[in-house]
Amino acid sequence: MSEGRIYIVGLGPGDSGYLTQDALAALKEAEDLIGYAPYVARAPERAGQIRVASDNRVELDRAREALARAAAGRVVAVVSGGDPGVFAMAAAVFEAVDEGDPSWRELDIRVLPGISAMQAVAARLGAPLGHDFCAISLSDNLKPWEKVAQRLEHAARGDFVMALYNPASRARPTQIADAFSLLRSLLPPQTPVIFARAVGREDEEILLTNLEQADVSLVDMATLVVIGASGTRIVPRGNARPWVYTSRRAP
Ligand code: SAH
Repeated sequence: MSEGRIYIVGLGPGDSGYLTQDALAALKEAEDLIGYAPYVARAPERAGQIRVASDNRVELDRAREALARAAAGRVVAVVSGGDPGVFAMAAAVFEAVDEGDPSWRELDIRVLPGISAMQAVAARLGAPLGHDFCAISLSDNLKPWEKVAQRLEHAARGDFVMALYNPASRARPTQIADAFSLLRSLLPPQTPVIFARAVGREDEEILLTNLEQADVSLVDMATLVVIGASGTRIVPRGNARPWVYTSRRAP
């Protein structure tokens, strides 16, 4: 029997230039490709490869499916957008290993990092994550909203720049508004806010605004929201979008 293997692959935010060489090699080698349908669709075609595309909410089932296939000797790639370790499949695979068949611990599992949305977004604007920052998922599919609100409050009080993932979806339209009311009660109105949607894809849109003026109805599930800290500065330029950076010398 051939040796099974799992690659947990990050595809980057969308731009093929941001797909690493290791990720590309793993996608070419994989006999089976498993992941949320839009991500699977982004992997380059390979003849004979079995593609198992699924809904977004079944991460653990998908992880178990990958482990079972690898245990049967297949070379499997589990794909995520961005980095697989940031609100994505890598944690689900290790949770399935932790709770599953003890023999799965002996499997050859390799995590291949990708460029996360926050890094791609930061690079477009300058260096908004240049000083202490945190990443928070606003989704309450897997944790209660009270926990999300608590973390937002502590991040605001701690003067962290925040990268907010999963800010809204059709199933959760109000949470971004709730998050902004909370942040408006804790941070100055001029705090820089970035809405960056579909970065690296054809429909990319970036909006630089502030906490007071931000229109949360523009935020959808393809958007990453960045909230500045006290050290976040805007550098205006003629016709081009201003640079945004967070000073490392800020107190
Ligand atoms: N593993 C991914 C994140 C998955 S969570 C990563 O590391 O980037 C999905 C969320 O990521 C989306 O709701 C959105 O907030 C953000 N996101 C993913 N791709 C994006 C892109 N191209 N542009 C902006 N935000 C993106």
